[in-house]
Amino acid sequence: MTEIQFILDKEKCRGADACGGVCARICPPSIIEYAEECGKKLPFVSEIELCMKDHGCQNSCPVRAITILPPQEAGREF
Ligand code: SF4
Repeated sequence: MTEIQFILDKEKCRGADACGGVCARICPPSIIEYAEECGKKLPFVSEIELCMKDHGCQNSCPVRAITILPPQEAGREF
């Protein structure tokens, strides 16, 4: 089994400076960080194994740029 997956739509994401960094602020274990890319601060997950799977980042993003997918079986392609 792989870990849960954090999928970001980089086109939709407005960047942390524009939205106030909602996804990182809502995350209980504080595992969402930002990196500068395409002129925006885009979120990434630093320690996915600490994810509490509460989908807070996905549900709080004002533009629905985050999709959380359950762990996938090794070897399966999507
Ligand atoms: S994913 Fe959503 S909440 Fe997170 S920085 Fe981008 S726009 Fe903001």
